Amino acid sequence: ARKKLTLLRDEPAESRDGELIHLLANIELPEDAAVAAANGAEGVGLYRTEFLFMNRKDQPSEEEQYDAYARVVSAVNGPITIRTLDLGADKQVDSGRSHGPTPNNPALGLRAIRLCLKEPEMFRTQVRALLRASAHGQMQIMLPMISNLAEFRQAAAIINTSRDELRAQGVPMAGKVPIGAMIEVPAAAIAAPMIARHARFFSIGTNDLIQYTLAIDRVDDEVNYLYDPLHPAVLQLIRMTIQAGEAAGISVAMCGEMAGDPRYTRLLLGLGLTEFSMHPSSVLEVKSVVRESSVGELRGRVGGLLERIMSGETGADPLEELLRPA
Ligand code: PEP
Ligand code: MG
Repeated sequence: ARKKLTLLRDEPAESRDGELIHLLANIELPEDAAVAAANGAEGVGLYRTEFLFMNRKDQPSEEEQYDAYARVVSAVNGPITIRTLDLGADKQVDSGRSHGPTPNNPALGLRAIRLCLKEPEMFRTQVRALLRASAHGQMQIMLPMISNLAEFRQAAAIINTSRDELRAQGVPMAGKVPIGAMIEVPAAAIAAPMIARHARFFSIGTNDLIQYTLAIDRVDDEVNYLYDPLHPAVLQLIRMTIQAGEAAGISVAMCGEMAGDPRYTRLLLGLGLTEFSMHPSSVLEVKSVVRESSVGELRGRVGGLLERIMSGETGADPLEELLRPA
């Protein structure tokens, strides 16, 4: 089957009824850009920058970061979404650089954008490196763990100020570097219409969205039996985010693991998702599901079904029909 899938590498992710779906890759190292392309991804929907900061005592300099970002942006033949630092909780740095005592609930603590806003010098260094690297391709900047509009605006202001400073110094940059928000905290999904007025794009991080919606620690084996992408509340938050993005005219992607699981592809198409970012090894399989699907028909079915499930009119069983057998 794998051999047959590779024939799809250069084919478009176009549904039976002619909807063009975007399939991108999640990567962690600049070298992964080539793997993404070899697997038929049209670009990178999530480049995680944490690896530069992990397993070391110091922080990478602006130059070191610029080198890595410029390398990855140049290597991607297509759009690339780079996520600003998402340290903390499940992505701890070397213990030598921890911030005070270990919190009881690291997932609810100082992580990701919260840490960056608390340490603006660290954030600015990364932002400058990113903006400089934008000269080499089609980059957008994504902010993780946004939980309210103020955080988004504060981070965007730092990025805009850095851009103005670099421009005044004559540093080459892309004309436009869109700034978007990850939607991975339930509050952000509920407040998505508000955030959509300021963000240029959304990307739904289902790994954290599920963790926070269902109150289950994503790294605690004792409770992972409760980790359920199909929980109607999770689906409802995904739908609200997609609809808020549509209403505001901004793109909505999904970069959590749910986006790369071919069992959920039809359901997500039915919820209105048009951009999926996933581990490179999943792209071809998801592409084959997209090409077998009729997006219009799925959209017609899923919206009404979710409403009936949420209202208690029906159980969740009819969802099974939308899933692809594992
Ligand atoms: C997510 O939370 O879904 C996500 C893509 O980010 P990470 O897994 O890196 O937290
Ligand atoms: Mg996350």
